[in-house]
Amino acid sequence: MRIAGQVHIDDIPKICPLVSRAVNPQYGEIGTRVVEVAGVRFGGERPVVIGGPCAVESHAQTVGLAHAVKRAGADMLRGGAYKPRTSPHDFQGSGLEGLCILSVARQETGLPIVTEVMDPRLVGEVAQVADMLQVGSRNMHNYTLLAEVGRTRKPILLKRGMSASLCEWLGAAEYIAKQGNLDIVLCERGIRGFPSGEYSRYVLDLNVIPAAKTLTFLPIIVDPSHATGVSAMVEPASRAALEMGSHGLLIEVAEAAFGEPKCDGLQAIDGAALGRIVKFAHTRRQHSEFRSPKAVEVGAN
Ligand code: PEP
Ligand code: MN
Repeated sequence: MRIAGQVHIDDIPKICPLVSRAVNPQYGEIGTRVVEVAGVRFGGERPVVIGGPCAVESHAQTVGLAHAVKRAGADMLRGGAYKPRTSPHDFQGSGLEGLCILSVARQETGLPIVTEVMDPRLVGEVAQVADMLQVGSRNMHNYTLLAEVGRTRKPILLKRGMSASLCEWLGAAEYIAKQGNLDIVLCERGIRGFPSGEYSRYVLDLNVIPAAKTLTFLPIIVDPSHATGVSAMVEPASRAALEMGSHGLLIEVAEAAFGEPKCDGLQAIDGAALGRIVKFAHTRRQHSEFRSPKAVEVGAN
């Protein structure tokens, strides 16, 4: 029986030709497009580790954590100035002021910044500060936003919708690519499954890493913080993600010195734990079939 709107993995070359491995033979069977963000290379030999607060709350908190992330040896700083919250009554992020704080944090530490943009009207404003724009899980299906970030020349971190199939996720990447921007890094952040919410926040779908790698040449990283929602699970989940071939990690960090975070405190790890993860990530070379994508330099967009 054929059903309207149904897509299958085999349709990827047809529905997502721009990001499909099969349609772009220059990447071969295991080649990865290296996405460079201010000197940090996603999809290269070394996994990339991004650390930082869930939300930019204050100058002291974000700049202080940026220094902790730098000391831990991580490659980039994360932090949301605009936060997608379940309740409109909760803290929504510090907006423009948050962007200014992120810019100071970069100045002080030299760490490139990835931060989320939720509103197509604010893409230009956020892109002025961000080295990489994050499209969050809730906005993966926001095609207007995807086209808007695609029109910038900024690298994009595209999170997987929490209930999105791999086809839908690659379709979202195709929207960005269609605007001429192929600097896209996929980020698995956990999906809804029947046990999600019982003992962890979502179900961390590590199986999608090798699957995505066979279908696309885009780099893929993992966010073990939102996937698990439990700080004690973040370290082992990070190692597991690297073991499954992840090109990097996006991790939420907090320190007692800066007070209880306004959001997602239960999944945050401290600088010392981040340092252990960085050491694990940076001292290993990718060696399995899944973990040795050949870096292929194919002209910037
Ligand atoms: C985040 O990384 O700040 C975030 C809100 O994550 P997600 O979109 O995956 O829920
Ligand atoms: Mn968070």
